[in-house]
This record gives sequence, structure tokens and C-alpha cells, in this order.
Amino acid sequence: MIRQWGREIIACVVRILGLHLIFIKLISRNKAAVIVYHDPQPEVLSKHLEYMSKHFTFITLGRLVEAIRNGNWSDVPQSALVITFDDGYKGNYKLMKILKQYKVRPTVYLCSHIVNTHRHFWWRAGHPNFYRLKKMPNQKRLTVLRNEAKFEPEREYDNRQALNKSELLEMQPLVDYGSHTKFHPILPNCPAEVSRNEIAASKTHLEDMLGQPIEHFCYPNGDYGTREMDYLKDCGYKSARTLAWGWNDKHSDPFQLKVIEFLDDSSINMLCAHFTGVFVLFRTLRVAVKRLLKLQ
Ligand SMILES: [Zn+2]
Repeated sequence: MIRQWGREIIACVVRILGLHLIFIKLISRNKAAVIVYHDPQPEVLSKHLEYMSKHFTFITLGRLVEAIRNGNWSDVPQSALVITFDDGYKGNYKLMKILKQYKVRPTVYLCSHIVNTHRHFWWRAGHPNFYRLKKMPNQKRLTVLRNEAKFEPEREYDNRQALNKSELLEMQPLVDYGSHTKFHPILPNCPAEVSRNEIAASKTHLEDMLGQPIEHFCYPNGDYGTREMDYLKDCGYKSARTLAWGWNDKHSDPFQLKVIEFLDDSSINMLCAHFTGVFVLFRTLRVAVKRLLKLQ
């Protein structure tokens, strides 16, 4: 709680001093930001987009990726910004009116074998130790979830967490879709054949369901290795998005797109501060100090 208040105070100072505007105008020239959302409430997203629309020009992910792949930035406006949504939550359906209002065409990364089912996202199974699960080998994570949270990846539960096919098709004129694997495992923790199958089969499954090419991918939890990048290229994807903080420019690797990430319900102050990378800087300093103290 105290830490959260501290972050809010830092964010407030950043906004009052206008550091985020200096950052956007000077440092981010000829760069594009990619924003990550998951399941924001419509009223919060509306406030965020209203603010961002004053300082950025919204572009599609496809336009950004083409500019990077062609090495030609002339088609990308100054202060360009891409909006993305991860996972395919059913709440995304309620955002269409707002996206239309602000003329935003986002990319929604879908877990192909959870959308259009009553299967659940594993991190919402109520297991108390989410961070420990993310570090486990894939099979162990599934066993622990089964034994300790009674979670089964392929069980059809009573309630629905993800978008269904009719919602996806209704949203199709307003959004682009990408793949976020089949079941959202942590890919580097999977055996090679599982990682490859999650990447390949999610693409074909979504293409069959939606009748459109799926060209963009998003790494679950932002975790990947060179193995995953190779599989993506083999499967014909054009880009992949990470969760590493940063801006993208014409020298970016399209299979390692960087992001500006904040919580879905962030205040506008926090949103501004995240654009400057101030919290990433603090985190880096904290880790460096800890290492230094350990060495002594
Ligand atoms: Zn995700």
C-alpha cells in the first residue's frame, strides 16, 4: 500500500513537471509506443484514450510492423501509438464503442483454445502462488494447478471468461487479431514440441475460426527465447510482442516489439509516468543496489 502511494506521488510529480511531455516530444521522436491492456473497464479505457489521443496518433500494429520490416519510417506519424489487448477477455467486447469513438483499431491477442469455450485462464484459478507457478516446468505447473486448485485446462466451466465466436466476428471490422498461444503456457518452460505446437496450432485454429490470416503473436508473460523466435518465423508470423519496456523504431526487431505497460485501472498520472520509464529506472537501480550489497 505504502509502495503504491509512493508510486502515485512519483507519477504526480512527473505529470506536474511535464516530464512525460518532454519525453514524448524529444526522446520518442521517430519512435512508436505499443500499449498493453488486458481487461480494462470501459470508463477507465475511455479516460486513457481521451488523454492519449491528445498527445499521440493511433496507428495499427500492422502499419508499425510493415515500417520496421521495410526499414521505411516515412509512413509512421510522429508520436505513433499502437493499442493491444492480451488474452481475449470477454470484457473486451464492451469496449468497441469507445474504440470506435477514438478511432483506435487495436490488436487483440487471443488464446486460441480458450476463446469460444467455457475454459478458464489458468492464472484465474485462484491458486495463491501465481509467481511460483510461472517459474515451474510446464508439466509441473499443470500438475500443481490440478492438485492444489482443481484446475483443468480443457474443462468447460459454468461461466465464460473469454470472448466467444459471435463476439469475435462482430468485433472483426473494428479490431485486428493475433495469437497468444493455445492455452497461455510460459513457452521457455515447455518442451520444444509443446512450444512449437502452441505457436503453430494457435495460428491455424484462429485462421479457421475467423477466416483471416493471423500474422502477429504475443509471448505469454513476455517470456521467450531464440527457439520461440525461430518457430514464429517458420510458421509465417510477421511480428511478436514482448513485455519489455521501451519504444520501437525502424531498427527494432519485429519479433521483439517493446511495450509501455501499466495496470488496466491506472490513474492518468501513472499512465504519464510509465511513458517516461521512471519505474523501470527505479527497479534497475534497486536491483543494482541489492547486488552490490550482496557482494560486500
Ligand atoms: Zn497473456
